[in-house]
Amino acid sequence: MRVAVVGAGAAGCFCSIELKRRLPDATVDIFESGSKPLAKVAVTGGGRCNLTNSFEDVSSLKEVYPRGDKLIRRVFTTFDHKDTWEWFEREGVRLTLQEDHCVFPASQDAMQVVNLLIKLMRRLGVNIHVRHKVESVKSLTEEYDAVVVTVGGRPGKKDFDLFEGLDLELVPPVPSLFTFNLPGSPVRELAGTVVENVSVGLAGTGFKASGPLLVTHWGMSGPAILKLSSRAARHLAESGYEATLLVNWTGGADAESARNELKRIAEGNPLRQVSNSHPEFIPSRLWSYLVTKSKVREDSRWSEAGPRGLNRLAETLTNDTYHIKGRSRFKEEFVTCGGVALTNINYNTLECKSHPGLYFAGETLDIDAVTGGFNLQAAWSTGYRVAVSIAEK
Ligand SMILES: Cc1cc2nc3c(=O)[nH]c(=O)nc-3n(C[C@H](O)[C@H](O)[C@H](O)COP(=O)(O)OP(=O)(O)OC[C@H]3O[C@@H](n4cnc5c(N)ncnc54)[C@H](O)[C@@H]3O)c2cc1C
Repeated sequence: MRVAVVGAGAAGCFCSIELKRRLPDATVDIFESGSKPLAKVAVTGGGRCNLTNSFEDVSSLKEVYPRGDKLIRRVFTTFDHKDTWEWFEREGVRLTLQEDHCVFPASQDAMQVVNLLIKLMRRLGVNIHVRHKVESVKSLTEEYDAVVVTVGGRPGKKDFDLFEGLDLELVPPVPSLFTFNLPGSPVRELAGTVVENVSVGLAGTGFKASGPLLVTHWGMSGPAILKLSSRAARHLAESGYEATLLVNWTGGADAESARNELKRIAEGNPLRQVSNSHPEFIPSRLWSYLVTKSKVREDSRWSEAGPRGLNRLAETLTNDTYHIKGRSRFKEEFVTCGGVALTNINYNTLECKSHPGLYFAGETLDIDAVTGGFNLQAAWSTGYRVAVSIAEK
């Protein structure tokens, strides 16, 4: 049997290793357009490789996989995050679980993962062809018994050229995982300020997210913003990256309970300046900014704020608004929303419905996730599932 794997990234390399283990006599050729395999994995997680997540904090897969959650649920029945943990530890990569549920090699070195996968491919006899860009998947399907496409995210539509002649349904690619630019907003003067639990949303839409928020020199970033950018990736692309951002600095309290909390502070500190006593979760500099934004004098005393002042403060705390205009990269990390539509795929096998023998795995599929190790987990799980499907066939 002859199998071609297109793209030596996370999904392609993992798939070819598992293929050779199951079918030692098969010829497995992996084609990579770059000069070496796994170049992207080498820079994941800031060079530390956040290779999976404990999923302990995940209440539904849809929350972390805005696209592809149902397919991920299906492939997890074959290979999930626990299997990933066991797989890498069995191969000698000791892993460590961070407090934020992200999993990294204990060595904190992505090259340990890269070197392991390359070593296994070589040892098992996978033929690695670098600097070999595949121009047409269709011609490969005529040459090989099975073809696995793992070409990763597609930043431009022209990158779909390799699918010509296959008549696949393709979802236009747009970037996901970015930070918001807030040009002209004075909040940027607070760059470096972090609030641990903030809820954010886009006005007039149902897109929401929560988590830590970081104010930057150009706007806002941090897990809450990245999650929102992922969930609203297509909506924001269609609106030219212009939208109204709603920020609830309390993490979810409504204006009424925020008002009650402020009233409690006011009653306990009538003679203190409004700027000097505030809800504990709001850093002082941010509080001063919010007080000014609420048109309450910073040097007024709590007793002088009055019901109107409290109402305005509660409103700013729970329903602060910003004008998003543009996006920026987050530590060079991004994934693609879009790709090969999941309607083309048999969810059980990841085989193309209209082309038996053609399989897809990894980010080339219309699957992507928020940050936290979920994207690499999707690559391992789908790559593994394809290897099992080909071997079973
Ligand atoms: C800077 C950065 C940091 C990241 N950090 C993390 C992280 O810590 N944790 C996490 O879970 N996710 C992270 N991600 C996302 C994650 O890296 C990807 O989701 C994952 O690598 C996807 O795996 P893949 O195998 O589908 O694609 P890729 O790893 O992108 O591999 C695809 C391969 O196919 C090759 N290729 C493309 N076209 C052709 C062609 N025509 N012929 C031959 N070869 C071709 C490419 O050169 C590439 O090597 C990060 C992404 C970036 C950009």
